[in-house]
Amino acid sequence: MGTLIMKFGGTSVGSADAIRSTAQIVRGGQQTWSRVVVVASALSGVTDALLKGAHTAASGDARTFKTVAQELRARHFKVLDELVNLPEQASLARATVEVYVGEFESLCHAVNVLGEASPRALDAISSLGERMSIQLIAAYLKSIGTAAEPIESSELVVTDAHFQAANPIDDLTRSKTQNRLLPLLEKGVVPIVTGFIGATRDGVITTLGRGGSDFSAAIMGVALDADEVWIWTDVNGVMTTDPRIDPSAQTLPELTYREISELAYYGAKVLHPKTIRPVVERGIALWIKNTFNPAHPGTQIVRDNGHSHGGQIHGGVKAVTVIRGQTMLTVEGRGMLGVPGVAARTFGAVARTHTSVSLITQASSEQSICFTVPEQLAASVSATLEDEFRRELHDRDIDDIAVMENVVIVTVVGAGMRHTPGISGRVFGALGAQDLNIIAIAQGSSECSISLIVDKQDADAAVKAIHRLIVNSEK
Ligand code: ADP
Ligand code: ASP
Ligand code: MG
Repeated sequence: MGTLIMKFGGTSVGSADAIRSTAQIVRGGQQTWSRVVVVASALSGVTDALLKGAHTAASGDARTFKTVAQELRARHFKVLDELVNLPEQASLARATVEVYVGEFESLCHAVNVLGEASPRALDAISSLGERMSIQLIAAYLKSIGTAAEPIESSELVVTDAHFQAANPIDDLTRSKTQNRLLPLLEKGVVPIVTGFIGATRDGVITTLGRGGSDFSAAIMGVALDADEVWIWTDVNGVMTTDPRIDPSAQTLPELTYREISELAYYGAKVLHPKTIRPVVERGIALWIKNTFNPAHPGTQIVRDNGHSHGGQIHGGVKAVTVIRGQTMLTVEGRGMLGVPGVAARTFGAVARTHTSVSLITQASSEQSICFTVPEQLAASVSATLEDEFRRELHDRDIDDIAVMENVVIVTVVGAGMRHTPGISGRVFGALGAQDLNIIAIAQGSSECSISLIVDKQDADAAVKAIHRLIVNSEK
């Protein structure tokens, strides 16, 4: 029956044992599904290591990337040795890993000489993790008798040239993917496709952004008219909060598209936000499951059904998330009322820096606009704003563009919230009881979320306080 796309994240392919579990899941999938496509991430930590090599090389360090290269070679060879004991079967994978580690070193060397890593160079370098991991997975599957073929998605996914956050071009991707994969699928071969990467029309490697392998799975799902997309990760589906912050987090058996969008957008790393839309639009079923506990049903993402249920707790609050590393900027001044288009000009200026704003709030008096941006972009955004409002700052219509560093956004999500009065009160009460200060508040326009800005130091305590509210009211 039908086509199933299964995506395995970094931890799901991060060791020989993990790849064995992954392979069992793939074989299990073949029992029920006539066509199975695997989309794989790099081994856990590998993308970070590749980028560390690139960044240190760019800043004049000609040694670190060589150490990273040795570690990458050693790690991939060790996993391969543990997985595949027949030398002939391992040899192609071994040779490819060797070539890519060599490519990593030459690219980092070039970056070091230039003293600069362009977005295009960073994509070429960070793409290497997935290009190595698929070799190991395919070699192991073949060694246990499952027909599999490693495929680099630069052959399938055509993107624009927006390096580091490339966007797929749908029709080209569809025809390339079908032409390349359908003949394999007809023969019962499992394509092991790299997540995260694509290529421009001219064949230059791009990446879809960090965590983008989920998005790759969605792109494959759409291109192949798949029936279902399953995202295999290292937790039992989408939970009431990140279990790393609060181990008492519980699985949410069912979430609507809108809820998961809000959760992913506001920092629940478990699913990349761009994954959701293409899958929703095609009505493809989406599941999040645990590679290390495959019997657990995980979380199903369903269409908005008007009444959301399953894991819903009293009052409709379902989960709490956090986005770290934010800086809050406030444009404020008593004269602002008289200045036309302040909001439009503010966000126009921000857009020119190619920064996406995570959260906006405006005081009802219209005397201030406050928003957050990722901390590494704050300096350029505030400089651009000062430029934009030079005259108003001079005339004191705008008093200040204030910068508050080291803040996080904590977001409470749940579709049922809009029908339930008093949610904000309970959330604020829970934080107040712990003496946690709320710096600013914004309600999502869908009324499916409320976001709070709090100090970085209060992040975990704030998440836990709200989470207690969620799990306790479940009883
Ligand atoms: P993968 O490598 O499989 O893509 P990620 O690390 O990208 O995995 O995402 C899975 C992680 O997301 C989990 O290990 C968990 O720590 C984190 N996470 C954050 N918020 C949530 C949440 N609400 N539910 C489940 N996991 C979450
Ligand atoms: N390997 C990439 C990353 O770490 C993509 C992914 O895992 O989704 O960002
Ligand atoms: Mg991920």
